[in-house]
Amino acid sequence: MASTSTTTTWPIDATPAERDRIVADFKAALRETGLVVPMATTNLFTDPAFKDGAFTANDPRVRAYALQKTLRSIDLGAELGAKVYVFWGGREGVETDAAKDPVTAIKRNREALDFLCNYVIDQGYDLRFALEAKPNEPRGDMYNATTGHMLAFITTLEHPDMVGVNPEVAHEQMAGLNFFHNVAQAWEAGKLWHIDLNDQAFGRYDQDFRFGAVNLKSAFFLVKFLEDVGYAGSRHFDAHAYRTEDTEGVKEFARGCMRTYLILKDKSARWNADAEIQALLAEINADNGFLTPLTGPYAPDKARGLKEMTFDRIALGARGLGYERLDQLTNELLLGVR
Ligand code: MG
Repeated sequence: MASTSTTTTWPIDATPAERDRIVADFKAALRETGLVVPMATTNLFTDPAFKDGAFTANDPRVRAYALQKTLRSIDLGAELGAKVYVFWGGREGVETDAAKDPVTAIKRNREALDFLCNYVIDQGYDLRFALEAKPNEPRGDMYNATTGHMLAFITTLEHPDMVGVNPEVAHEQMAGLNFFHNVAQAWEAGKLWHIDLNDQAFGRYDQDFRFGAVNLKSAFFLVKFLEDVGYAGSRHFDAHAYRTEDTEGVKEFARGCMRTYLILKDKSARWNADAEIQALLAEINADNGFLTPLTGPYAPDKARGLKEMTFDRIALGARGLGYERLDQLTNELLLGVR
């Protein structure tokens, strides 16, 4: 039962007493249901005070207020047992570059995250940060627009070991990118600490559809990756039911997200066990070891040997790789006919 997650929030204008009552009610609900809080975050984008951003706003009072709001929220996240703290800077950007210098914005963002990392260390909280990227909406252009940008930015922080990423399907697809590739890069960098699952058609508004609702095959390769590598974080659905739905429809939506994930997990196991698919993969990746002595880590002899080697370029180009067959077999497996 403890594997399910939930979140709480209190109004921005709540008095300390109201805030305490809401948190107490929430804690009681956690105890009653066995739900846990794996992540926490701060809303630094809805209130008009943040219309020009939070950590990157031009007004120093807004930047300080954003820090104050986040410090308070981090305290609650730690109190509720969250292990990951997500940052989505919904207003960290511009409509016109006349308004803000992007280099200044990066420096302000870094200063805020360094401040907050040091606060977490000071308090002794067991909390890591996960940065979530988005290219645009609700601003014309947002800073650190993709997961790749975030990964590069993290290396410039004072405590890079405390900071990873929270890629969201829709946000990367809005940028026209391959979400699975971005997730794989984050994983390879040891930075995939959280994930937001939903779905999105390219070129549309931020749809946040039910997981797998639009790009089933992309969702399949994503799930297969998460399961194959043993991703141990939350499978977090940051999505919304269609606005056409009543309460039953919203439940269908929530069930649908989870069912599609689990069905694709089952399909992944079938794909890995499919003899024909695996034989094709073995053939595609065949390696007789002949070139191993000349490749891998650099050595002067290897460079000399490679320069002297004769390659049959025509034969290399003439070889068919069988990817059409491999992809069709994948489609047939997903369509349920194998
Ligand atoms: Mg999200």
